[in-house]
Amino acid sequence: MHRAEKVSCYENVSRLFDKAADKLNLDEEMRLLLKHPFREVKVEVPLKRDDGSLKVFLGYRVQHNGSRGPQKGGIRYHPDVDLDEVRGLASLMTWKTALVDIPFGGAKGGVNCDPTELSVSELERLTRKFTSRIAIVLGPYRDIPAPDVNTGPQVMAWMMDEYSIRQGFTLAIVTGKPLALGGAPGREEATGYGVAVVTREACKDFGIHLDRATVVIQGFGNVGSNAARFLSRMGAKIIGVSDVKGGIYSSRGLDIEKLISYARQNKSPVGFPDSEPISNEDLLELQCDILIPAALESVITRANVNNVKARIVVEAANAPTSTIGDAVLTEDRGIPVLPDILANAGGVVGSYFEWAQNIQQMRWDTEEFNRKLEVYMTRAYRSVYELSREKKVFLRTAAFMIAIQRVVEAEKLRGT
Ligand code: NAD
Repeated sequence: MHRAEKVSCYENVSRLFDKAADKLNLDEEMRLLLKHPFREVKVEVPLKRDDGSLKVFLGYRVQHNGSRGPQKGGIRYHPDVDLDEVRGLASLMTWKTALVDIPFGGAKGGVNCDPTELSVSELERLTRKFTSRIAIVLGPYRDIPAPDVNTGPQVMAWMMDEYSIRQGFTLAIVTGKPLALGGAPGREEATGYGVAVVTREACKDFGIHLDRATVVIQGFGNVGSNAARFLSRMGAKIIGVSDVKGGIYSSRGLDIEKLISYARQNKSPVGFPDSEPISNEDLLELQCDILIPAALESVITRANVNNVKARIVVEAANAPTSTIGDAVLTEDRGIPVLPDILANAGGVVGSYFEWAQNIQQMRWDTEEFNRKLEVYMTRAYRSVYELSREKKVFLRTAAFMIAIQRVVEAEKLRGT
């Protein structure tokens, strides 16, 4: 039945939850408690444009579950942001933080705007207004935002400043901040590094030699470009990458350090010398060992899943594989999918390290940061792989099972 219809982001996550909850024989009451968000905030975000006109956006913050610690999750600026998407992504954060065993719950937020149409000062005013309107539910021990699609260190700095104006200097209110303002060396690259670490571990189990492997990455922003960088350092050959403007391909492999500089200068990898252009659709269907969607949701769907030629799919983006796409890849075609709550968890582990350093007023160097990140990611990957073997379930179900068990235990201990 799950193959017949299009489902919303939240519904999709709920189905993944149910699948794992069935395996755990979780009772109905606990399911009800864990499926629904703890709190949803929807705010009007008025913005005075540079030309004096007024535009009104909608902003959201959904706190899904805080039984294991303060709520944690990114802020996204995108025209597709709506309550359903934020709710689904908030729930994913609960399972992600539990899976990698860091002391946080799950939240998500966003504003349904197109930031490419805004000037820098408009973006700052929008961020400050949004922050002031959700500040009542934020706090370093309550809810700690982080960057997501189209937000980065500068947006986090404005959020930190706006919150601090009201509450006093509070570095630990957001993570993913600039280094000069309480950011942690290693945090910006952490998601991409985590993707590379779990990919390396999975290659060992699925018979892929990373130093001979070919990799295709959709999305060349923070996550995609850093995953490319670390995987190429581990010996893999990155043969194709893309961004919203299109893709590039080279069968000989792309020089990733040069490509990152090129993309920074030209605001896109498109046009990189020694590469051929390729459409985003064709890129996903390239022959390769490892396919890494690192852009937006639902890019591997019923429409293209049968054309995917990778040996393994690593979900660096959140929910890049639709329910049907996932079922066809894993059940019909036997292609392992490293689920998002595992593959891209390096970001939130890195955020935890940044928050812990802010709270303690300490600073670690990048080596210490990466060493600890590797421990968390490797341990999480191993636990998922071993449970999937033991219970004969797919990696995603195993990941949800581990996460749900941890949250259930916390709920019970707290006596909810
Ligand atoms: P980003 O804004 O830095 O980069 C997004 C990239 O995707 C850009 O290269 C953009 O051009 C590309 N893109 C957008 N639309 C596209 C399309 N239709 N086709 C192809 N490419 C397209 O964002 P990011 O931080 O790299 O996040 C990417 C994904 O990873 C998101 O799903 C996000 O939720 C997830 N994620 C990010 C982090 C983090 O720490 N940044 C952590 C966990 C998960």
